[in-house]
Amino acid sequence: MKIGVLALQGDFDAHRRRLEELSAEVILVRKPEQLDEIDGLVIPGGESGTILKLLGDAGFAKLKDFVLSKPSFGTCAGCILLATDVENPKQAGLGALDMTVRRNAYGRQIDSSIREGKFLSDPIEMVFIRAPKIERLGLGVEVVATEGKDPVLVRSGKTMASTFHPELSDDPRIHQYFLDLVADGKKTGK
Ligand code: GLN
Repeated sequence: MKIGVLALQGDFDAHRRRLEELSAEVILVRKPEQLDEIDGLVIPGGESGTILKLLGDAGFAKLKDFVLSKPSFGTCAGCILLATDVENPKQAGLGALDMTVRRNAYGRQIDSSIREGKFLSDPIEMVFIRAPKIERLGLGVEVVATEGKDPVLVRSGKTMASTFHPELSDDPRIHQYFLDLVADGKKTGK
């Protein structure tokens, strides 16, 4: 299985390492045509506004085609990019997940923290860094992990997004969940 990690900006290398530990073949995606070579894509954390600028219009359009048809997993800034609606401030989203996401939703004081949440009803460590909050979920978007009452990992079909950084915890479960989703899609031809 070939998994791409969008490598324009942000902490893409931590995703690469984790995916390779789980035996995936990883391609660092820097050019739009590399999207044609991969079975699934991780969009890392970083600054979503900067990633948008670096993508440019043509990169955005090609990435949008990809995420609307193939498995994708966005973390933090990547989660923001995958949403239909983005607030604080408003910016373009790729529209792969019908949800509203508020950027930098925790304010300056608690902008970064490590908390315990629940992933598929099991406890799991979650690293939040200037995290967004998912404020609205569309029909068909299911909550896979929560922190307190907040949805922090959601999924709709082949697309998933987390407001925290699973690549920064020493726990492979969430990346494995994504790899299983990509493998299932391959099996059923979706
Ligand atoms: N605050 C960043 C943004 O709005 C996301 C932070 C992160 O990815 N750790 O894009």
